[in-house]
Amino acid sequence: MILVLEPNTDPQGSDYRILIGQLGRLPGISHRVHREVGTEVTLTEIYLIGNTGALTVEQMQVLPCVQKVVRVSEAYRVLGRHKQGDDRPSSFEYNGVRFGQDSLQVFAGLCAVDSPESVEAMMKALQAHGQVCTRMGAYKPRTSPYAFQGYGAKCLPYVFELAGKYGIRVIAMEITHESHVDEIREALRTTGHPTGVMLQIGTRNTQNFELLKLVGRQQELPVLIKRGFGITLDESLNAAEYLATEGNRKVVFCLRGMKTNMGDPHRNFVDFAHVPVVKRLTRMPVCIDPSHSVGTRAAAPDGLLDIFHVVAQGIVAGANMVLVDFHPDPAKALVDGPQALLLSELPHFLDDVALARETYLKRTELALRRKAAA
Ligand code: PEP
Ligand code: MN
Repeated sequence: MILVLEPNTDPQGSDYRILIGQLGRLPGISHRVHREVGTEVTLTEIYLIGNTGALTVEQMQVLPCVQKVVRVSEAYRVLGRHKQGDDRPSSFEYNGVRFGQDSLQVFAGLCAVDSPESVEAMMKALQAHGQVCTRMGAYKPRTSPYAFQGYGAKCLPYVFELAGKYGIRVIAMEITHESHVDEIREALRTTGHPTGVMLQIGTRNTQNFELLKLVGRQQELPVLIKRGFGITLDESLNAAEYLATEGNRKVVFCLRGMKTNMGDPHRNFVDFAHVPVVKRLTRMPVCIDPSHSVGTRAAAPDGLLDIFHVVAQGIVAGANMVLVDFHPDPAKALVDGPQALLLSELPHFLDDVALARETYLKRTELALRRKAAA
């Protein structure tokens, strides 16, 4: 059960103290307070844990400071979308960019940072086409220990400075170890915060619970968590819940395909049919990664790359973010060159994204009109 308190409830106030006192006297029930301090309002939610089946919504509703009571199902308590009266937000803002189940952001960029020249060419192209987000891999989890592992902390200062120069507000960047979070924060600090970072948990770390807890404990940077490539959707959504129970609700969930040869000739089996499923089960915005799911630049007879096709499919189904590999010179990319789109393809890609988004919005309008007429 979740008690949503009145906005700006004062934790020092007497009503709040009375509430906490009463909760403390409930037998077999403990509580956990989650407070989110925003620029205008502070939101407080109290999670009741234990034998809450015996409590009624009416009984809790009359307690001081309580605005609303939500009875949660067992799964995804914090990020889930619960049946009764759950209109808690499904969006957040970070560094001036909105992430919600109703918005769409494109993160086109380098799979791996390989040189300041590639980073600059990429960011310059993004700015020229009105983009304020990108992806830049500094820490790369590789199958072979002999493969390029990413430039790590060394490249962060120039990546962040160039982002500032080209108006990039959010960079999705995978981290594989807690020290990477410290390195990123330190580089943001020393460069004067010219940009923002969304920490990415890669598919190989989806169930690295200690890493999830650590990343969840910091609330400064939002998190993009990839679906685990060989586990169920439920298991991956529980992984996202690890981030949220530790305190970080700014979480985006990313579909990136499942590892099975049933997906051949694609690198992974594209799973974007799950976009509406994740939106139904949780309040997280949903990202699609066409590059790591399709994995090739193969094109259909209609002239469109498979990557373009799956992006359109995901967006027409309501995706809220696209994470996609580009490279100024894919033949020279140190990681995943064969799946990278060319900078010259960026305007076409963005136009195609806009077309799919328009179709999605028209589909939702149509559904509303049909419902109203029924
Ligand atoms: C990536 O996005 O660079 C990446 C390694 O993706 P995944 O974790 O989905 O394989
Ligand atoms: Mn990659």
